[in-house]
Amino acid sequence: MISVADNLIRELLDSEEFYNRWIEHPTSSIIHHDQECCQHARLWFLSYARSMEGWSCSQFDLKAPVWLSQLFNWGPSIWPISWCQLVKEKTLDCGVFAALAQEILKAQGHQVHSGQCLLVYNDTCTNHWKDLWRTKMPRKEGRRSGDVFHWIGDQVVYHEVCIIELPDGSAKVYDSTFGGWYEPLERIGFGALLAIRSECPRLLRWGDKFLSCGEWVDL
Ligand SMILES: [Zn+2]
Repeated sequence: MISVADNLIRELLDSEEFYNRWIEHPTSSIIHHDQECCQHARLWFLSYARSMEGWSCSQFDLKAPVWLSQLFNWGPSIWPISWCQLVKEKTLDCGVFAALAQEILKAQGHQVHSGQCLLVYNDTCTNHWKDLWRTKMPRKEGRRSGDVFHWIGDQVVYHEVCIIELPDGSAKVYDSTFGGWYEPLERIGFGALLAIRSECPRLLRWGDKFLSCGEWVDL
């Protein structure tokens, strides 16, 4: 049975101009030049991550890299980005945060996959972010304005996260940009998760939901 909340969420998503682009957008990954520049940068980053693990909070035996948001600010960054470029940056976008957190959690021995989300915010937030991206997006030669990915809608935004596959076939969803865990609860309002897509090749249980590879699941 479709609830009133389901209808509201569907209406909200259908009203968004970029909805189809969001659900077809590939997840982010970091470029590796296959040369010393990126080999050194990646090794430096992973050994830094290991040195930080001693005092990051752990949940179960997962040591979530909550310190990432102290090392980098969240904001517009060049895209695509390589390892040797990103270690010089102060500001990274959520796709790079998610790709970095995956590397760290994999280095800890966990099964981690890319995840994408659609979240709801109010237009005070979305207008502020649109301004931030318009004014602070690093210039790249030869790029036309149409090449920039429009992740910000009127009330809904696209976001990238990490999906952690636990040995019992369940999932945990980590927001690597803001350092928190998402719960599989239907709710409406500021920051609420509306839909999620997992790239884990196996079917994962997440609360009373099932995350099937590559499929968008509404909450
Ligand atoms: Zn490089």
